[in-house]
Amino acid sequence: MDFDLIIIGAGVAAASALDTLAGRGLRIALIDKARSAGGRCATRRLSRDPQSPWLDSGAQYFTARSAALRQPLERWRAQGWLHNWSPRIACLDEQAVPQPSPDQQTRWVSPLGLNRFVRQVIAEHNQSIEMLLGTRVLSARPSAQGWQLEDDQARQWQCRRLLVTAPPAQARDLLPATLATALPAVEMQACLAVLLSCEHALDFDALFGGRNTSGIGWAANSLSKLERAPARGLWTLHADAQFSHGIVDPEQAAQDLTDRFASVCGLPAHAFTPVHQHLWRYARPAQAQIHDTPSMLLAQQLAIAGDWMHGGRVEGAWLSGQAAARALYAG
Ligand SMILES: Cc1cc2nc3c(=O)[nH]c(=O)nc-3n(C[C@H](O)[C@H](O)[C@H](O)COP(=O)(O)OP(=O)(O)OC[C@H]3O[C@@H](n4cnc5c(N)ncnc54)[C@H](O)[C@@H]3O)c2cc1C
Repeated sequence: MDFDLIIIGAGVAAASALDTLAGRGLRIALIDKARSAGGRCATRRLSRDPQSPWLDSGAQYFTARSAALRQPLERWRAQGWLHNWSPRIACLDEQAVPQPSPDQQTRWVSPLGLNRFVRQVIAEHNQSIEMLLGTRVLSARPSAQGWQLEDDQARQWQCRRLLVTAPPAQARDLLPATLATALPAVEMQACLAVLLSCEHALDFDALFGGRNTSGIGWAANSLSKLERAPARGLWTLHADAQFSHGIVDPEQAAQDLTDRFASVCGLPAHAFTPVHQHLWRYARPAQAQIHDTPSMLLAQQLAIAGDWMHGGRVEGAWLSGQAAARALYAG
């Protein structure tokens, strides 16, 4: 089938591109290999019941320093999709002891988890797009009309313009070598996420790992993101980049990280019950840099977006999606 635009990936960068191009009457397809949209804004529910408690396993919250993100944010807040999160924050000192570390940062979270928020933004534009989930694009090649894509079910898709929002290694894999080499060289770091429940109340809702050898990068109680939070905890632990690098046995590594977190909290390891673990292979860019889509790619009606093109994080993904959509339809 023919589209004006195909967007590969259905995360924040894609949602932002859709928002930027809304009202243009374009026939757009959004293709993602995952079974649902949201990308690294991932939320896990304790059961299939949509009302069941949840944990954010990827992005935990986001900041909105730029006017470009603050503007739609007011609309989303009015719709009840987002609210402020003011956790009791601690930071591990050099001996890996939690110390209170309050700050003035405004943090945005969703009452149903960040994944739901991204899906809500995409659903705003559902009427004008075709969503193809559970579909991996294997290759994208320039054609007489623009681009021809092939997916993992041997289907072909044609479009005039193409926007790739996959992380760099995955973006490179599906493009012809001559174009892949034009992509900015960005290294992505892994992150092990471990989800736990705990009946004990702790002195903090969120913990920064600090500079020590604990291996803990971040921990947060997702229940503290609710406006009326119960005392118990549903904790997401993120290992730091050093701990996460080269993990071969995620289950063993998850147990090790849980033991370290329990020790930091002064609790026995059995105080925490495992819920899930996930190794994010392309969690975050190693360096926060800003890149534009190279002009030789734009000449081919191809743009690249994603957090890694704009300094990392949800806000960077939003700004990159907006910039890439504008560049593709400039003039
Ligand atoms: C553990 C962790 C913690 C984080 N914490 C924070 C935080 O607290 N605050 C913050 O602001 N940011 C945080 N981030 C970063 C934030 O999640 C990302 O910056 C943002 O979600 C990236 O959005 P994106 O659209 O650029 O990419 P993604 O969300 O990765 O979307 C890309 C999509 O492309 C799809 N895809 C890839 N290849 C193909 C293919 N061949 N065919 C089809 N689909 C494909 C993927 O399935 C994916 O859904 C965190 C990330 C992780 C992993």
